[in-house]
Amino acid sequence: MTPPLPTGSSCHPLATISDRDMLSSCVHCGLCLEVCPTYQLSGDENNSPRGRLRLWREEADGRLAPDPWTVSYTEECVGCLACEPACPAKVPYGEILEHTRHQHVATGRTRTPLKLRAAAAMASRPWLFNLVMTPARFLRRWGALPLRLFFPGKPAVALSTARYAEQLMRQYRPTGPRVALLTGCLMEAVFREINFATVRVLIENNVQVVVPESQGCCGAMQEHLGLDNVDQLREGNRKAFSSLDVVAVVANSSGCGLALGKALKGGMPVRDVLDFLGGMNLKKRDRGNSKARLYIDLPCHLVHGQKLAGIPETVLNATGYRWELAPQARDCCGSGGVYNLQKPDSAREILAKKSDFLNTAQGDPVILGTSNHVCMMQWNTARADGLVRKPFEVKHVIQLLDPGEGFSATY
Ligand code: SF4
Ligand code: SF4
Repeated sequence: MTPPLPTGSSCHPLATISDRDMLSSCVHCGLCLEVCPTYQLSGDENNSPRGRLRLWREEADGRLAPDPWTVSYTEECVGCLACEPACPAKVPYGEILEHTRHQHVATGRTRTPLKLRAAAAMASRPWLFNLVMTPARFLRRWGALPLRLFFPGKPAVALSTARYAEQLMRQYRPTGPRVALLTGCLMEAVFREINFATVRVLIENNVQVVVPESQGCCGAMQEHLGLDNVDQLREGNRKAFSSLDVVAVVANSSGCGLALGKALKGGMPVRDVLDFLGGMNLKKRDRGNSKARLYIDLPCHLVHGQKLAGIPETVLNATGYRWELAPQARDCCGSGGVYNLQKPDSAREILAKKSDFLNTAQGDPVILGTSNHVCMMQWNTARADGLVRKPFEVKHVIQLLDPGEGFSATY
């Protein structure tokens, strides 16, 4: 599917990527084509990593005038980063994409829709975002929100994760390693129950948890949109996390963890919480004779961005469920940060291919487990949009380890 020629894209004088060497590092081998979801859908070379890199290079070298097609193909990229590990020349595609998107926005070649700018502005101010999203938490808690984007869950309406962690720390007094938790903007404002489950799982497993209240948005959304306050957000988080007396910052969203890792690069380690828990002797959940089957999907930003092998088997075994990797588990589901909002048709096509197995999946119930809230939203649309007709639940893996409220812990 060739993307439609954008209308109204203005062609500004060419702004080049600062480091030409990055663009020049592509040796045109084409090994990235088969892993690229937009190339798989379209068969269009320009809609592949190699094609996009060529367009950007041609513009940077002045051989191609600033072209609306270049903007269009840039916008078509999901940002899944599957092309990076496939590349023998180690082209830093994600970094180049980030620069290019920022240039396109800064020079007016890309016009970010107002609603996305407004969402990014709010996400940059956690107190405001939390306040504005109070009704959403309330409606989710009472199951009264349309479920197209918002998967079922019961977040606390008023109690923050920081306060909740303080309460549990006082109650249980764990003595093990001490970590800081990244709560995230959307996670804390809308999907807070996943943060609460994360705190419970860590404390049940004798991990001390601190939640710095001065932390802010990781900047992933702004980065996806090419906005210009990413450095400011990263600096804020450097201040919030760098001087803490902890062994690591843990993140329960792979996209947020990847973004925070860029902010704290060379300083405090940032670990995916499931990867962190994989090194521990975890408390296991007992599911009795459950007929449930758990299908694990691996977020792109976990396996391609953070370059982890996956979710540790010890963690998946500790859920107590019979589990297996979903077919195409390492392929993109189409969420891509805000891609499912910017390019809903392409995102739906990518998901349709990947989610079809759920129509015949065994298990009662069938559970789709992942570790990124944006992927969870995307999987939820498979049910809401009728791509999957058979009932299934979407869960964060940390929720499947959750002892629930009022658990007992002996260390
Ligand atoms: S980031 Fe994903 S969608 Fe974009 S070029 Fe790479 S593989 Fe394709
Ligand atoms: S795999 Fe790397 S070097 Fe080969 S075409 Fe793709 S980006 Fe270029």
